[in-house]
Amino acid sequence: MELTFPQKKSTKEEILGKLKKMKEKDVKWENARAFSLVYGADPDVYEVLKESHNMFISTNALNPTAFPSLKTMENEVVGMMKSLLGNEQCSGSMTSGVTESILMAVKTAREWARKNKPKIKKPELVVASSVHPAFNKACHYFGIKLVITPVDPKTYKADVEAMRKAITKNTIMLVGSSPQYPQGVIDPIEEIGALALEHKILCHSDSCIGGVVLGFWKQMGLEVPPFDLNVPGVTSLSVDLHKYAYTAKGASVILYNSRELRKFQFYCTTGWTGGIYISPTALGTRGGGSIASAWAVMNYLGVEGYKNIFQVIYDTRNKLLEKIKEIEGLFILGEPNSSCIAFSAKDCDIYVLADYMNEKGWVMDKNTFPPSLHMTVMKAHENVIDDFINDLKESHEKAKLEYKPGSKFKASFMNTMIRVMPKGLIKKLAGEQVAEVGNENSPGATKTAGIYGMVGSLEAKGALQDVAIELLDNLYDN
Ligand SMILES: *Cc1c(COP(=O)(O)O)cnc(C)c1O
Repeated sequence: MELTFPQKKSTKEEILGKLKKMKEKDVKWENARAFSLVYGADPDVYEVLKESHNMFISTNALNPTAFPSLKTMENEVVGMMKSLLGNEQCSGSMTSGVTESILMAVKTAREWARKNKPKIKKPELVVASSVHPAFNKACHYFGIKLVITPVDPKTYKADVEAMRKAITKNTIMLVGSSPQYPQGVIDPIEEIGALALEHKILCHSDSCIGGVVLGFWKQMGLEVPPFDLNVPGVTSLSVDLHKYAYTAKGASVILYNSRELRKFQFYCTTGWTGGIYISPTALGTRGGGSIASAWAVMNYLGVEGYKNIFQVIYDTRNKLLEKIKEIEGLFILGEPNSSCIAFSAKDCDIYVLADYMNEKGWVMDKNTFPPSLHMTVMKAHENVIDDFINDLKESHEKAKLEYKPGSKFKASFMNTMIRVMPKGLIKKLAGEQVAEVGNENSPGATKTAGIYGMVGSLEAKGALQDVAIELLDNLYDN
C-alpha cells in the first residue's frame, strides 16, 4: 500500500487553515444551540483553560516523581472534590473521564469481593435501566453480570424494591445515579445505600454530570436530595470535571469512602524487564494538560465563580421547565431535580419535532424508551430561552400537522434506535436508499418515511447490536 502521508512538509499556516476549514461543519456550540457535549463557561474561563492546558501540554503524569507539579495539582483537585462531595476519610484519583472512573469503581468492587467475599465466583452488579452505559461496558470488560432493573414508570427514578428483588448471593455492588442522564432525576441514593448496608455490599453513586452542580446547589441552600459520599452505605462516587467544572476534556475524579477501598483500584507488576510498574488508574501515559487545566479553572473560579454560574443554571432550568409546560401538548418527564431535563409531546411525533428544531439550528438529544428530547442546561442558554421557546412552538405546530395518531406506538425497538442514531452513521450504512433523509429541504414527513423505508431493509440484516457495530465500523474508514 502506498504511503498516505503527504510527501512534502507543509507550513504552519497551511495546516492551521485546513483545521479551521474542517471545524466549520462541527456543532456550533458557541452560540448556545446545543444541549450536550460541550460545557461552555464564559470567555475568561476559556482563556484560563487554554493557557493552562498549553503550559503543560507535553507533561506526563505516568511518573509523579518526575512531575511533582502534576502530583500536587492532582492531590489538590481530588481534595477539592472530596470536600465538596465527601469527607476527610475519603480518597480518590483523577481519571480521564467518568467512563474510566466507572471502570475503576467496578474493577475495585470486583477485587474487593475477591478478598472479602471469596465464595462469590460469578459477581453481579444491580443497576436501574437509566444508568449510564459505561456500567454495561465495565461489566462487559471485567466479566461481571449486569442485572438491570426497571425504573419507576412515573418518576423515572430507580425502583428500590425492584433492586432489592434482584439482589442475589453473588451481588457485589448496587448503583444509583445522581442524576441519571436521560430525564435528569436523582435516584433515591439514601435508600439504595441502606439496601447495600443491609446486604453488606458496595454502593456507587454516579454523579458524573451532576456532582459539581448539585454539590454547590447544596452549599447555596437549594433543595438537593442526599446523593454524595456522606450518605450511609455509599462507598464510591464518580464525577466529571470536563462537564460542569468546565475543565479541558480528559478530567474526572473517582472517590471512595476510605483509603483501604481505593487500594483495590491500584495495579502493580514486578516481573517486567523494564522495572516495577505501578499505576493508579486504567491509563498508562496521562497527559498533564487536562490535570493542569482542571487545577487552573477550579482555582480560577473558586466557590464564588461556581456559585454564580450555578445560580444562573438553576434559574434557566426553572424558566425552561415553566415555559415548556405552558405549551399545550408538551410535557416534562418526571420531576427533574438537576441541570438536565427531558420533554415529550402528546400530540405529535417528538422525533419529527426534533427534526424541525434541527432545521432551525438546534441540536436536540434524543432519548428512547420513552421517546423524548433531552436538554443539558448550560449557562449560555440563559440568553436564548425566548428564541428556543419560539422555535419550539413553531416546530411543534408543524409536527402536529404530520401526526397520525397511533403510528407512534407501532414503532419497533429497531425503528426507535435507528431514529436516534446520528444521520451520518445511517447514511453511510444505507447509502443511496437514505439520501432523502439527509435532504435539508425535504419536509419532516418525507424524512421520516425515508427512515422507515430503510428500517425494513436493516431488520433483515440481523440483530440490532450487529447493525450498530457495523454502523460504527463504517463510520471509521481506516
Ligand atoms: C456523561 C456521563 C457519564 C460518562 O462520562 P464520560 O465523561 O463521557 O466518560 C456517566 N454517567 C453519567 C450520568 C453521565 O452523564
